[in-house]
Amino acid sequence: MSTWLGRAWARGILTTRYPAAPAADDEAPETGRPPMPTRPLDELAEAPGSCPTGAIGPAAVDQGKCIRCARCRAAGFALTGPVEASGRRRSELVWPGGRPGATVPEAGLAPLGRSVHVFLVDVGSCNACNLEVLALANPYYDATRLGIFFTNSPRHADVLLVVGVPTEEMVEPVWRAYEAMPAPKAVVAVGACPTSGGVFAGNAGLRPGLDAVLPVDRYVPGCPPPPVAILDAILALIGRGRPRAGEA
Ligand code: SF4
Ligand code: SF4
Repeated sequence: MSTWLGRAWARGILTTRYPAAPAADDEAPETGRPPMPTRPLDELAEAPGSCPTGAIGPAAVDQGKCIRCARCRAAGFALTGPVEASGRRRSELVWPGGRPGATVPEAGLAPLGRSVHVFLVDVGSCNACNLEVLALANPYYDATRLGIFFTNSPRHADVLLVVGVPTEEMVEPVWRAYEAMPAPKAVVAVGACPTSGGVFAGNAGLRPGLDAVLPVDRYVPGCPPPPVAILDAILALIGRGRPRAGEA
């Protein structure tokens, strides 16, 4: 017993301090952050052509389409945006214009209070978003310390986390999971795939995004988003996310 206590004392606390403290560099590496133009967009003529997903337009960047490939770096972008980048509406992911990372919860979700149960459904992912979501259950991110619990049944779930681009085969299963959840309930689209189709957008047998299947309450950009971004989106959903720049 004293040996275990001694080891624990020597190691200290390894669990992340997020969201009490900002995300550390290794929790939100460059490929986990949104691309931001380093100069006014209209001075970066090469940028739209460098982007494989059409995320960069002449006047705005659609973070929901961005796959964090960093090809736009040579054209004057830097992947330095905030990890708190999820939005309640698809339009909030189009910067500037949208409001990066608005954290105000939908009024109907207030009864979820300080504890939520989460059910994960993969509707057609590459598995990377799955891994980032499941990292929330490990001792480092330890989502249970924040009142976030994974459940194996949609009947016990408050929040439906969806990863992957919606394949036709998964439309009915994910809809049935949603219908089985008791109200109030919320849906979070995790990653570029359920948000915009990501790298698979336009392919046969796919829906263009999760909002073509279910009402979505939160979109989390990234490919994949890092665990802190997913954690923040769940907390923002119920009004407990980190304050954003410009928010009270
Ligand atoms: S990181 Fe890649 S996908 Fe995202 S805006 Fe830049 S070029 Fe486009
Ligand atoms: S968003 Fe990217 S990482 Fe996530 S499932 Fe789609 S391709 Fe994979």
